[in-house]
Amino acid sequence: MPKTPRIAVLGSINMDLVVRCAKLPMPGETLLAESSSEICGGKGANQAVAAARVGGDVHMIGRVGSDAFADRLVENLRNERIDCSNVQTTGNSSSGLAIVGVEESGQNSIMVVPGANGELSLEDVEKARPAIESADVLLVQLEVPVDTVLASIQVAQKAGVKVILDPAPAPMDVPEPLLEVDLLCPNESEAEALTGIHVKSETDAIQAAAKLQSCGAKSVVITMGDQGALLLDEAGNQMVNPFPVQAIDTTAAGDAFAGAVAVSWAQGRPLHEAIRFGNAAGALAASRMGAQPGMGTREEIEKLLETQ
Ligand code: ADP
Repeated sequence: MPKTPRIAVLGSINMDLVVRCAKLPMPGETLLAESSSEICGGKGANQAVAAARVGGDVHMIGRVGSDAFADRLVENLRNERIDCSNVQTTGNSSSGLAIVGVEESGQNSIMVVPGANGELSLEDVEKARPAIESADVLLVQLEVPVDTVLASIQVAQKAGVKVILDPAPAPMDVPEPLLEVDLLCPNESEAEALTGIHVKSETDAIQAAAKLQSCGAKSVVITMGDQGALLLDEAGNQMVNPFPVQAIDTTAAGDAFAGAVAVSWAQGRPLHEAIRFGNAAGALAASRMGAQPGMGTREEIEKLLETQ
């Protein structure tokens, strides 16, 4: 591997409580479920794990609460060799929680409690300034307060650090400068939320990407599930082909994609090559159960790259 790329990830850290049941309860109904599991997640943490698995030297910037999940969430990141010196504890709050009900038909319903993620502050960005300034790439999403995300982007840009924004979950209202990043990577529904263009085909994606570029993003990649990704950079538009796999669980394909693209780009690869690497990481994650457990290693991704 050429050089060890340094990736700063600012974002959410959640515990996902997944309850499986025959049928989801109606309002007012109580029923017996079949099983429950606690799975470490959150977009920020997932992307940090994805980047670490493919060889990134990853620094996580985030917050956990003062509950029993906090230590486990941090330990989980440390086990992936992620630097957690800027993961702070919030005294009077729970850790971020996602309560996920899944019924036999595969339908789910999810309640997300931001908890400590909602407390990630401008002071936290200030404390993490050395980690951001010494990174090759800053990777951010929108599960923490948008002002905090914006402040971290400004610190990175002043220091000449490349910024990747995954605008997820799809934002309702975006302050203009938020989109002025080096690489914006929405999926189809996020691209639609940002542009009003319904993205299903390559032609739609080209239109949406152009609109996002006119809002200030230097380059745009719209991820399109099993269709791969549409990249718009200084060379123009190009579809970057997907890696056909048997999809089992696509929950964190986008997180695997973003983490892998960050590392490959930070290593100095051209953007279209980094996107191809990200496509392979996304496909691998889609072909396996679980968000973080499904994230591939560099060796696994390189093996998949050799097939095309
Ligand atoms: P998100 O999880 O944010 O909705 P996508 O589903 O678009 O993101 O997935 C991100 C990337 O992962 C895609 O651009 C694609 O390269 C890859 N990917 C996702 N699902 C599949 C699939 N079913 N088959 C092959 N590749 C996939």
